Amino acid sequence: MRSELDYFLGDKLNEECGVFGVFNVEEAALLTYYGLHALQHRGQEGVGISSTDGKDIVREKGEGLVTEVFNIEKLEHLPGQIAIGHVRYSTTGGQCIENVQPILIRSHTGDFTIAHNGNIVNAKELKMQLEATGSVFHTTSDSEIIGHLIQRESGEFHERIMKSLPRLEGAFSFIIMTKDALFVIRDKNGLRPLSMAKLEDGYIFSSESSAFEIIGATFMRSINPGEVVTVTKDSITSKQYTEHTQNKMCAMEYVYFSRPDSNINGLNVHVSRRKCGQILAKESPAEADIVIGVPDSSLSAAMGYADYSGIPYEIGFVKSRYIGRTFIKPTQKQRERGVKMKLSAMPDVVKGKRVVLVDDSIVRGTTSKHIIQLLKDAGAIEVHMRVASPPLVSPCFYGVDISGYNELISVQYNPEELAKFIKAESLTFLSEEGMYEGLGTNICMACFTGKYPTSMFSLLENINK
Ligand code: SF4
Repeated sequence: MRSELDYFLGDKLNEECGVFGVFNVEEAALLTYYGLHALQHRGQEGVGISSTDGKDIVREKGEGLVTEVFNIEKLEHLPGQIAIGHVRYSTTGGQCIENVQPILIRSHTGDFTIAHNGNIVNAKELKMQLEATGSVFHTTSDSEIIGHLIQRESGEFHERIMKSLPRLEGAFSFIIMTKDALFVIRDKNGLRPLSMAKLEDGYIFSSESSAFEIIGATFMRSINPGEVVTVTKDSITSKQYTEHTQNKMCAMEYVYFSRPDSNINGLNVHVSRRKCGQILAKESPAEADIVIGVPDSSLSAAMGYADYSGIPYEIGFVKSRYIGRTFIKPTQKQRERGVKMKLSAMPDVVKGKRVVLVDDSIVRGTTSKHIIQLLKDAGAIEVHMRVASPPLVSPCFYGVDISGYNELISVQYNPEELAKFIKAESLTFLSEEGMYEGLGTNICMACFTGKYPTSMFSLLENINK
């Protein structure tokens, strides 16, 4: 799970967004606030909530964390029993208030508001077509495209959605709200998570199931790839916008993004990480005295490594809980100093020890290098780095900010060379087969393998965005 430490260090992947929706529950906006708080790790740059009392749609949004943007006054300004919310990390479209969601569309055919997690890979092509025929975009976010497509179609609102969705390629989990209905949609490849739950007489929808617990909702199921769930006061119905579906959940949701208490497609994140750690220990044993994990997302995999290897699991780092957001865009020098400020190795634990250091992934390698230095400064005599996923070698086109090959250290170095660069005594990664053994085969592994689950034509269009 992405932490503020990762944000500060700038050497972890970022994802754009988490979405949350409430239908037919009192104080829907307040529940959405709590839900977004539980999804904060999915986006820390902007947050918004739209709600409706059946007469009008009201929206509040701003740049920053959920607790920074919202207060009692703002929440009181959001009436009704239906609400949707969004936390944003900006990749496509850049960071500005206009791009903070939910997007609100005022239309003579009826107002609606959209929250989107993912990345539409044929956005450039669609935007050019729409602009050429008169559409005016108010944001630079690809999420606005679905709004324009819906506006142009004819028929009832749900029919217009069903006609628009087949034109989109890529990764998307949408929650769309009108004054009296919610439409909850997942792309045909199932790349981004989206689940539903029951609360009293209403329904809750969330990018991650862990947010349900916080508001006392009972998990029902994941939204299926290609599914559109429509909730009105009279009914809840499910339709497929296409029958051509596959289940290719982003593997990085398990490896890094999601909270350990979330269940994705029936698999608990902590359990899956622990299993990957066990497989890693089987594949890549080490002669060592203790196993430690890089906080927070690698702790489960480190436990798994310790389970299988029999080497004792230890807490080797203490993390500062008070990380100021003034350092959001640090210089490299500040980052280096910041590692020490934000993360301390425990000399009493590591001194004189041969350490297995488990991390979930390596992007640029700079954090690994600094963390290993921290361990050695604290007295560790050897550090054997074990990574609970394969080397990252390809960009992501589905909403994760791996935008180019040149930012991936594993493109430049093989594991032996990388071990020298980060000054580890040894370095190994989980194999591709090990990852499938840990997570099952219904996953996208494109950033590890270069094999993408959508057509290359759309992806090439996206490269030129
Ligand atoms: S390419 Fe990687 S980060 Fe992107 S969706 Fe696939 S597994 Fe996730």
